[in-house]
Amino acid sequence: MQVKRDQDFFWEGIDRGELLVQKCDDCDALRHPPLPRCCVCGSEQWSAAPLSGEGTILAFLESVHPSRRDEEPRCVCLVELPEGLRMISSVLDPENAANGAPVRFEITEYDGQLVPMVRTIGGGQ
Ligand SMILES: [Zn+2]
Repeated sequence: MQVKRDQDFFWEGIDRGELLVQKCDDCDALRHPPLPRCCVCGSEQWSAAPLSGEGTILAFLESVHPSRRDEEPRCVCLVELPEGLRMISSVLDPENAANGAPVRFEITEYDGQLVPMVRTIGGGQ
């Protein structure tokens, strides 16, 4: 029997070009990061729900790993989603990163894996 981890659906969605979160089948609450039970009603029943793929930068910083430096510094951000969730990502155009900047997710290959990163909308304004 193959064991599925809570986050497998998320990465399977990314591989298909979809940005997904869990939606409770009993109370419709959305949740991210993936968890085995609903935070609102405790239900273990859920379905995958697509996100709009847009959001707003709530905070950002330049990532400096203490022991394994990135070849290029990465701009890591916390994105507020219109669906009422928050998601950590990296900014593809860090020169335009700003608190409150609108962003759109792009599924991008990084270090041999597809990952969701964000690019500012109307950057440089
Ligand atoms: Zn629920």
